[in-house]
Amino acid sequence: MDPIDPAERARKLFAGPIDFLKSAPGLQFLPDPVVPEIAFAGRSNVGKSSLLNALTNRKTLARTSNTPGRTQELNFFDVGQPPVMRLVDMPGYGFAEAPKDLVKRWRFLVNDYLRGRQVLKRALVLIDSRHGVKPVDRDVMDMLDAAAVSYHVVLTKADKVKATTLDAMVAATAEETMKRPAAHPLLVATSSETGSGIAELRTAVLEAAEI
Ligand code: GDP
Repeated sequence: MDPIDPAERARKLFAGPIDFLKSAPGLQFLPDPVVPEIAFAGRSNVGKSSLLNALTNRKTLARTSNTPGRTQELNFFDVGQPPVMRLVDMPGYGFAEAPKDLVKRWRFLVNDYLRGRQVLKRALVLIDSRHGVKPVDRDVMDMLDAAAVSYHVVLTKADKVKATTLDAMVAATAEETMKRPAAHPLLVATSSETGSGIAELRTAVLEAAEI
């Protein structure tokens, strides 16, 4: 095998040490910006925790908590020892019952992070394969476009839809996002349940981090 095959490098890196670093409920708590960061964003229940666990081959790296209010923090995970990059679990959005001030706090925290973070190399915007892009997802893509943070769309729970439905969802999502200034053309459909798309996403994350 080619020793520098990107997929194999990605597999090895994600099979190695990955450790929770810290939670940041505000900008003053962010870790020093010393390595590239890749941020994960998505509506609550989109499958973000499951995807982080699948990517990192772990069962409980990311908490699968769906409680509004408990998730208003950015969670940082060091990848590699010493760390070569960080994964950033952004707070889920779009709780039906979220109070207005919580939504506001989310926007401030996320916007501050997106706008000021030089080491943030890419965001992954997670979209449920069954539901497609919703207005709240468009709001987040607007924020990313405005902050000029490049992002991929990642479809989750691909195992939950038929292959033809998934193909149509990939096409519709690509069509919608390709007009956006900061959207990266690669769109990966994943399933944390079956593992489909996970290896491809690992490779894309390394490529985005430029490591
Ligand atoms: P989060 O709120 O975005 O972190 O979502 P979770 O990772 O907690 O997932 C929400 C629900 O969807 C849980 O019941 C998961 O078991 C389920 N889920 C997540 N990813 C997948 C997937 O790829 N396939 C299937 N079938 N279910 C999934």
